Amino acid sequence: MTKVLPPMLMPTNPRTDLSFERGEGAYLYGSDGHRYLDFFSGIAVSSLGHAHPHLVDTLRSHADKLWHITNNYRIPAQERLAERLTALSFADRALFCNSGLEAAEGAIKLARKAQHTEGKPNRTRIVTIEGAFHGRSIAALAATANEKYLEGFGPRAPGFSQVPFGDSAALEAALDDDVAAVMIEPVQGEGGVRPFDLGYLRRARELCDANEASLIFDEVQCGMGRTGRLFAYQWAEVEPDIMMLAKGLGGGFPVGAILATERVGRCLTPGTHGSTFGGNPLAMAIANAVLDVLVQPGFLQEVERIGRLLWTELEGLAQQQGEVFSEVRGAGLLLGLRCIPPAGACVDAVRASRMLTHTAGENVLRMLPPLIIEEQQVAEAIHHLESAATAVCQKAGAA
Ligand SMILES: *Cc1c(COP(=O)(O)O)cnc(C)c1O
Repeated sequence: MTKVLPPMLMPTNPRTDLSFERGEGAYLYGSDGHRYLDFFSGIAVSSLGHAHPHLVDTLRSHADKLWHITNNYRIPAQERLAERLTALSFADRALFCNSGLEAAEGAIKLARKAQHTEGKPNRTRIVTIEGAFHGRSIAALAATANEKYLEGFGPRAPGFSQVPFGDSAALEAALDDDVAAVMIEPVQGEGGVRPFDLGYLRRARELCDANEASLIFDEVQCGMGRTGRLFAYQWAEVEPDIMMLAKGLGGGFPVGAILATERVGRCLTPGTHGSTFGGNPLAMAIANAVLDVLVQPGFLQEVERIGRLLWTELEGLAQQQGEVFSEVRGAGLLLGLRCIPPAGACVDAVRASRMLTHTAGENVLRMLPPLIIEEQQVAEAIHHLESAATAVCQKAGAA
């Protein structure tokens, strides 16, 4: 399907010429009259699917109460969410914002301020990993360090350097006495659905400890249950000093968070950082409602089980469709199929079969289904992927 750039909008996003009228669970109903299986969740955001009854009830019950007040006053739902997220993680303190890039900005500022507070003001450099994606603000772009995103936006913000993926010797070599923090996505999403080896994450922790650097985990895409644990780092049994959340945190409502240990988190003292919207009552009510579902007994175990089932089915598919799919990668329900034809053509063919997916780096077809999918949707997805692979092969044969 050809992409469109509506003339009244800035042309940042070439759009598939399709819109949706409503969603229910893992399905979206298109303006073309067709039902689509949503295996992308608006980039891991609608992680409880569309129109989840608990989220709808929460939104409705807050509609005529209080939407916004800003942080000059106490916000009970914000304190409650902070208490819950810190109780469920390594962290002691939270700060709320509205998106992943704001979480990245906040995490970078926090890591630098913590070094400054501890009498090490020269420690400002943030080390990131090749293939990372941390957002599109001037600082987050410097952290992401992808030339494709940087070009045309003036001088690159100083104070960032990058090391190759999965190379702990390179990470060790990069850790000098000017480093404030190392920033890692435990599973790279945009970069190609690449999970880090758990040993690498443990080594990164050791190296940060030995070098007085903070460890930041960017769990904007891989956090909030996506991998079958509430946070992806929990698989590695190492804890960061700072963690970034957004995407799935609000189940479709824009909200982000920075979590940190007491040592680091206390350093953003009054007036040093903030946000007008961050943590407003409506966002907090909805994020609390998302968390209610994620912590229900058995919910994450089921995500893990369905993720494994989908993985096994995808392995079978890749074997059977070896000319189209060369590899399955990912963790939990953040899964990728490395493609032999251009991944974009595979995504188009999958959509023609009425399932939504997207690309990621390294020619990968990326799947981020809602965490509520059942065996039925796994079977449907495999069916869509099979018919797409057949269509792609036929096209290649005809060309
Ligand atoms: C999407 C993403 C971001 C940026 O989030 P936005 O809400 O789009 O600003 C940062 N880090 C990771 C890992 C992401 O996937």
